Amino acid sequence: MDLKPSEVATVLKEEIEGFQGKLQKSSVGTVLMVGDGVARVHGLDDCMMSELLDFGNGVFGLALNLEEDNVGAVLLGSDTKVKEGGTVRTTGRVISVPTGLQICGRVVDSLGRPVDGKGAIAFKDTDYRPIEGRSPSVPEREPVKQPLQTGIKAIDSMIPIGRGQRELIIGDRQTGKTALILDTFINQKSTGGGDPNNPEQVICIYVAVGQKQSTVKAVVEKLEQCGAMPYCIVVSAPASTDAAMQFLSCYAGAAMGERLRDEGRHVVIAYDDLYKQALAYRQTMLLLRRPPGREAFPGDVFNLHSKLLERAAKLSKAKGGGSMTALPVVETQEGDVSAYIPTNVISITDGQIFLESSLFNAGQRPAVNAGISVSRVGGSAQTPAMKKIAGGLRIQLAQFRELAAFAQFGSDLDKATQQAITRGQRMTELLKQAQYGPVPVEEQVAILYAGSSGALDSVPLAKVQDFEKRYLAHLRANHGDLMESLRKDKKWSDDLAKKFDAICESFKKEFLG
Ligand code: ATP
Ligand code: MG
Repeated sequence: MDLKPSEVATVLKEEIEGFQGKLQKSSVGTVLMVGDGVARVHGLDDCMMSELLDFGNGVFGLALNLEEDNVGAVLLGSDTKVKEGGTVRTTGRVISVPTGLQICGRVVDSLGRPVDGKGAIAFKDTDYRPIEGRSPSVPEREPVKQPLQTGIKAIDSMIPIGRGQRELIIGDRQTGKTALILDTFINQKSTGGGDPNNPEQVICIYVAVGQKQSTVKAVVEKLEQCGAMPYCIVVSAPASTDAAMQFLSCYAGAAMGERLRDEGRHVVIAYDDLYKQALAYRQTMLLLRRPPGREAFPGDVFNLHSKLLERAAKLSKAKGGGSMTALPVVETQEGDVSAYIPTNVISITDGQIFLESSLFNAGQRPAVNAGISVSRVGGSAQTPAMKKIAGGLRIQLAQFRELAAFAQFGSDLDKATQQAITRGQRMTELLKQAQYGPVPVEEQVAILYAGSSGALDSVPLAKVQDFEKRYLAHLRANHGDLMESLRKDKKWSDDLAKKFDAICESFKKEFLG
């Protein structure tokens, strides 16, 4: 750090003058050094961690390093207006963002300022919340038991997510991570008709960290096209903004979600992605001269993510019963899940959805690796009907994976093996799903039951997807009341199974004939 003699002199003079009056607390300091978006300030003895510092000229900073004789701060905004030797004031406020339902349908930055060109959003003073909220304590929480339907067959059946859960989406670049989030958001329309004021409506928050502006724009456009934007909030911190704004964006989004959670609403928040957030944090902290540790990340990068994900919770009845479900995303390099950030986040979450390039490229989309993906708490949130059907599905797929290697010796296989392979191939085919087409849970149950009961074994593999489409259309058109009762009761019975067997059998005759 270079110091100019004149500044050293002022600092020394101040130290001498202030020596006897040590009891008097100072809230005005001097900039010692500024550059690369960070500043060191001398003389802010009573500065709090994460306190907002006023650098004058409308520039604010965030105190991040509290050292014995100076404070390291990161500037929120341009550092060109801040001069060495300038004055800095503490504000007595920790950094906060506006929250509330009025942000629904909008794109805001990490400080809650609109960036979508649709004008200002009106907030009251009471709408502001500190971005680093306290996570709910154990007695304030409740076990996860309500499902968060994603509308994606492979997930709702085998890796079910419950409200209040933290489920990691992990995979290399371009494996469909964002696509999973978009589909989940679009599917939430079914909870409250897409009206954010309906208390049943799940509110969706998408935090875009370090992405290209064009990618964020594409996400917003897609949400708008699908009629999902009215109940979505997008917090955008693109790659072009300061590193500080990038790592703060996740906390800002969490604060917005928490407010609604505490008001008894259900919220799902996606952080896309935490690897980029950690990179932004590392950049800031290295500039502030924090010592680098493993993979050059500062030692508290685990804390960075755990304090964020701990804020996801299902609250108890006494606390209003709201929930915040977190879907953090982590990008891996070459499928390496043993790197520092992936292992950290895996250990903080309640399960992970592994997406694989090889599956994606082979046309298995969503490219979920069902063998190693898990959901540790979501099972208790699954509807009883789905639970019953999905149990068989998992076993059939596992058997199929073991046997698939032998499939190439087709003719030498015994009948049972042959059959397991036939079944597995059909189930794999059923788990493929196009984007932006979430499937309601009762339809998922109907088609997955048809597959796992063996009704599709006689349908040629190439026709399975066509069969699915037409069978579901047939159910919707001709058996509406049956589907309605399955949706309402959520139960599965032998009686129901017989009914579906009969319907499927007669439909299959028509389809194949
Ligand atoms: P990045 O690492 O760049 O953020 P990502 O992992 O978020 O990528 P997406 O952007 O979601 O991946 O998807 C990559 C591409 O694959 C997109 O063009 C998307 O449209 C396509 N895609 C994703 N899921 C599916 C699917 N189920 N069916 C067909 N195409 C899909
Ligand atoms: Mg993405």
